[in-house]
Amino acid sequence: MFLKIINFATYTSLKIGTPLPVWVLGKGDEVSFGALGSHKVWDRLDKLEKDFLEKLTQTKSNINGIKDSLERIDLSSLIEKQNDCSKQQQCLKQPLYTCIGNGYNLLVSPNARHLVMLSPEFDYIVPKSQNKTDSSEIIEVGGKTSSSSLFRFCKQHNLGGLEFLRSLPGSVGGLVKMNAGMKQYEIKDTLLEVCIDGIWRSDFALSYRSSDIAGIISAARFRLKKGFDSSLLEQFQAMRSTHPKEPSCGSCFRNPSGDYAGRLIEAVGLKGAKQNGVGFSPHHANFLVNFGAKSTQASPTKTNLTQADSTKTNFTKINSCQAEFADALAMIELAKKLVKERFGIELVPEVQIVR
Ligand SMILES: Cc1cc2nc3c(=O)[nH]c(=O)nc-3n(C[C@H](O)[C@H](O)[C@H](O)COP(=O)(O)OP(=O)(O)OC[C@H]3O[C@@H](n4cnc5c(N)ncnc54)[C@H](O)[C@@H]3O)c2cc1C
Repeated sequence: MFLKIINFATYTSLKIGTPLPVWVLGKGDEVSFGALGSHKVWDRLDKLEKDFLEKLTQTKSNINGIKDSLERIDLSSLIEKQNDCSKQQQCLKQPLYTCIGNGYNLLVSPNARHLVMLSPEFDYIVPKSQNKTDSSEIIEVGGKTSSSSLFRFCKQHNLGGLEFLRSLPGSVGGLVKMNAGMKQYEIKDTLLEVCIDGIWRSDFALSYRSSDIAGIISAARFRLKKGFDSSLLEQFQAMRSTHPKEPSCGSCFRNPSGDYAGRLIEAVGLKGAKQNGVGFSPHHANFLVNFGAKSTQASPTKTNLTQADSTKTNFTKINSCQAEFADALAMIELAKKLVKERFGIELVPEVQIVR
């Protein structure tokens, strides 16, 4: 693993955030992923991070310009005792760390700590087996693989069940964790098992835009049926026609049962409302958008289809953007408060707020 500075103002699709250190995990670390649930291991990582940041300050380097720390370290070398590899993360109210994917559903605070991400070594797709009777096929996909790569693979190999990825940006880790989907089509429909903290498991629960998976998703196996259904693509593309042009993180809130978050936000008068350049889109009230960051690209997925894993370059040049984490959070809290007061409904953010 190594440390990398990620600027969340450019990395996330909402284009809000600051540069922060992120630990990038390699294949060699996979067997020790469970150790990231230990306070002791994070004490050691914090120390290494502090030394790295001090070195940066001494060399007067511009934090934005620095890509990686030069030294790689082995996660397993930080484990002193077996119980360092504990399952603490699952029992904690506030998780010890956050694994980020491709940043399409994230709002990251400047105070966020203990961030980790998968290295490109986890970007792969391999066919595993084929069922001769029904011609279904099992494929294994690395957690860092983009939805666009997986979509292309399915199309090329005539596999059906994940056609909705045509219009849905993200990495496989993020798609599984969020049980991403469109209308009745969801990741869980084809998901067979998931490699969590280095162990293949199927004892997890996925529901509407959420899962109970705690730990790092390094890969997933899908059972796909023979026959890619091109007729669905038009329908998915049409669903995107109401999406705002500005950078966003997709839907800001989950739809409450039997209602629409967008309708409720509009009803309390927040459609088009903003604070310092971030607010609810005048085109679709459930989209929290960054009005300050200019983009001509409404949905990043269209260009994804023609570029190999170029998810971060799909938004065109971003001008100086005023919006900050606090502004975005204030708008989210305001919508929750007004909707609760008027309708008694508790809106639950779909965007993952990393504090
Ligand atoms: C324009 C636009 C349209 C969208 N439309 C839809 C839509 O129609 N349907 C839909 O469901 N979503 C939609 N989204 C949201 C987003 O595409 C999905 O939530 C997607 O799954 C995010 O994947 P990601 O890799 O970017 O994850 P991130 O945004 O980086 O992270 C999302 C969550 O997953 C966790 N996570 C990420 N990677 C891992 C990992 N390897 N291991 C463990 N946890 C991990 C993070 O901690 C976080 O909780 C849209 C977003 C945008 C910008």
